[in-house]
This record gives sequence, C-alpha cells and structure tokens, in this order.
Amino acid sequence: MFKSTAIFFKSFGNMLWGYKKAFKASPEFVIYKVVFAIFQALQNLIQSVFLLAFLISCIEEKREFSYALKFIIIAAIIITAKFLLESIGNHKCLIMGKEKILRDLSLELYDKSIKMDLSFYDDPKFYNDFVWAMNDAPQQIILSFNLVHWGVYVSVTALITGIYISTQDAIGVIAVAISVFLRVVIHIIAVKKEIKMEEEKKPFQRKRDYINRVFYLIDFAKDIRLSNIKDLLFDDFEDSNKNMSKVVKKHSKTLVFLTQTYYSITTAILNLYLIWLLYCYFFLGTIQTLGVVVSLHNAINSMSNSLTNLANVLPEIQRTGLYIEKMRHFLNTKNNILDEGKEKLPENFDILLENVSFSYPGSEKQVLKNINLSIPKGSKIAIVGYNGSGKSTLVKLIMRLYDPSSGEIKLGEHNIKKYPLGDYRDSISTLFQDFQIMAATLGENICMDDTPLDREKAENILSLTGFTPIYNKLSNKMDTLLTKEFDAEGVNFSGGESQKIAISRALYSDAKLLILDEPSSALDPLSEYTLNHTITELAKDRTIIFISHRLSTTKIADKIYMLENGQIIEEGTHSELMQKKGKYSEMFLLQAQKYR
Ligand code: ADP
Repeated sequence: MFKSTAIFFKSFGNMLWGYKKAFKASPEFVIYKVVFAIFQALQNLIQSVFLLAFLISCIEEKREFSYALKFIIIAAIIITAKFLLESIGNHKCLIMGKEKILRDLSLELYDKSIKMDLSFYDDPKFYNDFVWAMNDAPQQIILSFNLVHWGVYVSVTALITGIYISTQDAIGVIAVAISVFLRVVIHIIAVKKEIKMEEEKKPFQRKRDYINRVFYLIDFAKDIRLSNIKDLLFDDFEDSNKNMSKVVKKHSKTLVFLTQTYYSITTAILNLYLIWLLYCYFFLGTIQTLGVVVSLHNAINSMSNSLTNLANVLPEIQRTGLYIEKMRHFLNTKNNILDEGKEKLPENFDILLENVSFSYPGSEKQVLKNINLSIPKGSKIAIVGYNGSGKSTLVKLIMRLYDPSSGEIKLGEHNIKKYPLGDYRDSISTLFQDFQIMAATLGENICMDDTPLDREKAENILSLTGFTPIYNKLSNKMDTLLTKEFDAEGVNFSGGESQKIAISRALYSDAKLLILDEPSSALDPLSEYTLNHTITELAKDRTIIFISHRLSTTKIADKIYMLENGQIIEEGTHSELMQKKGKYSEMFLLQAQKYR
C-alpha cells in the first residue's frame, strides 16, 4: 500500500514536471484546458441534471413563466460562453499551443541528445528510454492533458452534484458511495488483468515489431530480396501471432465478465435508487415534487460516474507519469564527459597520449592497453591494424567521445579535459567510415552548418577529390538536394561518390586536426591512391591521423603505428617497418599481392 502510494506520488510529480514545461511553452494551452473543462462540466450539469428537473418543478408548483425564464437565461449564458470559449480557444490556445509545446520540448530533447555522451548508446536500458523520449515523450505530455481536462471536469461535476444530493437526500450519498466503491474495485481488478495480459503479450509483440521493421526499413531491403530470410520471418510472424492469440484467449473471458459486471452494477444501483426516490415521493412524502425526483436521479448518475472516473484517472496518472519519467530521466542524466575546461585552445598543437588504457562502459575487456603516442603538429600519422584491434576506439578517445579509463591525452601543454569541449571538438575535422549523407543540399552537406557556403572553396575541394565530372552534370550544382527523403527529385550517389562528398566535407573545415577513419574504403585502388595524395597536399599544414587497414595510405605517413589487441606492437616509417619484416610488412605484402 505504502509502496503504491509512493509510486503514485512519484508519477504525479513527473506529471507536474511535464505540465510545468508545457506551461512555460504555452500558458494559454494549459489555462484553456482547465477553464474549458470547468465550463463543460457546468454545461453538462445544466443540460443533463438540472434544467429538465427545474422546469418540471416549475410546472408542478405553477410558477410564473418569468421565474423559469430567469433560470433558462442564466443557463443559456453559461452554455453560450462555453461555445464561444471553444470556438476561439480551440484554434488560438489548443492547436497553436500544442505546436509550441511540441516545438519547445523537441528542441530541448535535440539539444540534450547532441550533448549526451556517446557511451550512453552502449547502455541498452538508457538507449531504450532515450529512443522513447525522442519519439513519444512530447506527444505523451500533450496527451496527458486529457487527464487534466478529465480530472477538472469530473471534480467539478462531483462537487456540485455532491452538494446537491447531500442537501436533498442522505440516502443518495450512500448509494453513490456503494456504486463507486464496487465499480472502482472491479476496475482495479480489470486493469491488473489487462496489465498482466499486456506483459505476457510483450515478447511476441516485440518480435512482431522487429519483423515489421525488417519489411519497411531500407537497411534490410536488399537482404530480404536477395535471401530466403523472409521465409524464416513469415514463420516467426505466424508463431508470434499464434502465441499472442493464446494469451488473449486466456484472459479475455475474465475481462468480458468484469466489464459486464461493471455495467450491471451501475444499472442495478441506479434503478434501485429510482425506486427509493419514487417511494419517498408517493409514500413517505419526504420528496415533494417530481422535479426533485428527476434531478436527484440524474445527479446520482452523474456523481457516481464522475467519482468512478476520478478513481480511474489515478492509475492513468501512474501510467503516464512513468512514461514522462523516462523523458525527465533522460534530460536530467549527467554526462560522464564533463565540459569544465577553461583553457584557451592554441592555434597549433602537438598531441600526446601517455599510458592510455580504455574499456567500454559496462565491459571488463581492455580495448586499449597502455598506448603511448606522439603526434607533432602538422605531421601525418597512420594507425593500422586488423579489424577489432582498437583503431576506431583510439580515435574516439582523441575526439573525446569517451575519456580514457586511465592515462592522459594532452593537447599542447594541457590534458584535453582542460579545454572547453565545444572548442576542442571544433578543432578536429573527422571523416568516419560510416559517414552519413544528410537529406540537405550538396552545399550544406559540405559546409555542415548554417553559415553561408563559400562556393568557390567548396567547388575547388570537390574538383580535388575527383567529383567535378559528376558535379558538372548536376543542374542545381551546390543546391542539388541529396537523398530522396523529402523530394523524389533528390539525388542518391553511389558509395564511392558519397565518400568523395564526405571527404570534401572534412577538407572544407579549417580544423587543424584531420582524422580520417578508413577514408578510402569505398574507393577503387587508383582513386584511393590519388585521393590520399590530394588529402596530404590539401592539408599540408594540418595534422592528419589516418586510420586504415588498407596499407597504400600508410606509405605517405610520417609515422605508422600498428595496433594489435589494443596495443602498439610496431611503430616507424613505412620503410623502417618494411625492413623490420614484422607484422606490418607481413600485412603489407599480403595486401600488395591482392592488388597485383
Ligand atoms: P577497429 O577500429 O580496429 O576495427 P574498434 O576500435 O572498433 O576496432 O574495436 C576494438 C574492440 O572494441 C573490438 O573488440 C570491439 O568489439 C570493441 N568495441 C567497439 N565498440 C564497442 C562498444 N561500443 N562497446 C563495447 N565494445 C566495443
């Protein structure tokens, strides 16, 4: 009991947190929701509880028409006010307010997601919450305002009908209490049963969702056409469906029974109370007019519905609150990569790695062990090794996407943690092997920010990367829209062509350190050779770190570091390492054979 009360209050706190954010983005949306709910409750009470009853009483008591008219006018004013409020507020407050709230919440989430440590992607639980927060949280906060509407509506209805019933007939209050108690109990049992059913369905649902994704995501499009994996997927889909049906069948009888009982109880108590009211009117004389009989009958119905709904809102608050908690948790998560440095970044710098070791969060395995590296300013360094040797991880540490588990990375005189993170990352231009072409113009894909594009510079770089023949064929030149995401006329380039754009992007930035993670993996050997020379020519005064397992790149490096199992096993220039006849030369000769 204590535990569920605590959970409820926690959920309620989360809802308030969400409402505060919504209020900040659009106070008019929140105020409108509350005021509209009050007017709607009043309109409903007038129409379904009091108006008819009042008119019957007027006729019975032979009141003057002007007396009845006064009440009708007041009722008409309230109902008209509600309609006016609705017609103005729906557009100005609801629709526009909703957009403002969605916009502000989304921007806050985007901002947080950029600042979030990359390591959080490795934590499946956090990642699930993150995905949920990004996809659903803003909508969920908007939806949770239905609870506000509902809560205010039923509270106003219950309060007014409660006062009315207790002044007219105490038995009515008891009837309401019994009805609400029984209905809430049945509802709680039904909700528990439903949750259990949903839990049991979840693994099968997940499987179905996965299969669904496989059929629509472009990532799988080739595989499902070129292999027979679809047969396996269809079988799995059938199995999941069968299992889901079994679960539904197991629980559905009880659920149907509970729903029927729920409605039977309501009808039975209402009818019994009507009999009691008629008894009071005809035999006891405690109720004098039929108008009061009608209004009490309607009032008890309204009140018991309201109180039951109010009780049903509580589990909803709990459910929604737990969802919103995921967003709150995500936004409040503190990064491990702290941005506390204040040092000014030098114009040119050496980079030094001293005894750097690293394990990924949550993993025991040391991916890098005692790495010592010196990268003088303007030098061209190659880091080579077979797949999985730790090359990309090393680069991620240099980019401060992760911090070393032990050891130090220095830029100039200071540990890289001493510089503001934004300034530090701005000093590095990176080309990853899994670069992405954005759904934006060619120019934006090269410049990668919202500053005006230096067309001449961009076109120069494109020509140096060998892209000019393709560029000349584009009628919209730099304004050509890439990918077909937003426009059927958008251009999709081949892997090699896209890579040239990505390389141009890295070269376009003026960053002093250029990191090229397998820059030429999608190119043929000739293009690769030309490109590597181009890059070194273009970035003469910049420091370059090449990551590669294709060794033609490494010939142009001032120094090569060979990694194996997270350790540097050989270092030197290409000719030094070839003379040494160690692992590097073995790897080089093996590849050279392939090229021949
Ligand atoms: P390379 O770039 O040389 O191919 P990586 O640096 O990508 O190698 O990987 C080195 C090792 O680190 C591999 O054993 C890989 O499985 C592991 N690894 C890479 N990324 C992660 C991660 N996010 N979480 C845990 N282990 C990882």
